[in-house]
Amino acid sequence: MWSLPDIVRMNNEAAQAAQQSQFEKDAAKPQDHLCEVCGWSSKETKADYGYVWFDIFSDDPKGTIFVCEDHDGYTGSPIEGYFNCGECDRVFIENYSWERYSTIVDECEELCLPCALKRYLEDETNWIAPDAVQSVVLDPDAPSDLLFDPANGVLNLAKVQHLIGVKMPVPPGIAFLENLEFDAATGQMLATTSSTFSAGVGESAALRSIHQLAEQGFSRFLIILDAAYQFSVSLGIYVGARENERILAGEEVIVQVRKAA
Ligand SMILES: [Zn+2]
Ligand SMILES: [Zn+2]
Repeated sequence: MWSLPDIVRMNNEAAQAAQQSQFEKDAAKPQDHLCEVCGWSSKETKADYGYVWFDIFSDDPKGTIFVCEDHDGYTGSPIEGYFNCGECDRVFIENYSWERYSTIVDECEELCLPCALKRYLEDETNWIAPDAVQSVVLDPDAPSDLLFDPANGVLNLAKVQHLIGVKMPVPPGIAFLENLEFDAATGQMLATTSSTFSAGVGESAALRSIHQLAEQGFSRFLIILDAAYQFSVSLGIYVGARENERILAGEEVIVQVRKAA
């Protein structure tokens, strides 16, 4: 038997599916719509192209864009405020808030944050062993683009990549542990929303957190820019979800043993 929440959920899903297929049907018939860019200067021109657009928060399409031949890709991709992901080839809205939902990889390719994160997670070399980190610096002008240089054990916070957006769902394979917030302009760690610690405090705090990971038994971690606000950024420390569960379970066992003793 279905419970009421199930029915509500199924109805919502059905409505969502209907909405999605409506977006696709509309986009397939651009001639039934007017060009949006022409519309900005009050001109009424029939559209030649239709696009379904997405955001980084789910795989559901969120709307449609229509443009004429002249304006397809003229102000943006396909119009101002949107971009085309180089990996999933879908059109995305650039942002709802201050945070841009794309990241540039290899200096030229623009990817949506979920694709950029997926690609980052697939590359084993992005995982860092916490006990290999000797020092943490914040050096935007470093000659190397390396986030972590295993040769000298230096981790450069200025090279952390923006791969997760505020409230973006994170894949089940990784778990968030903690974050540090930095002033976007000076790179100094935030003490409160309106004040910062002096230079260097953020680097030491990050090194302390990383060494704690090693003490807790984590074999590897990721450091990811997981929120960009107008004046600050958050650098999040993520670990493998399975390792996290194992270590949490282990800690419980230790606590129970201590209690029993
Ligand atoms: Zn136009
Ligand atoms: Zn993508």
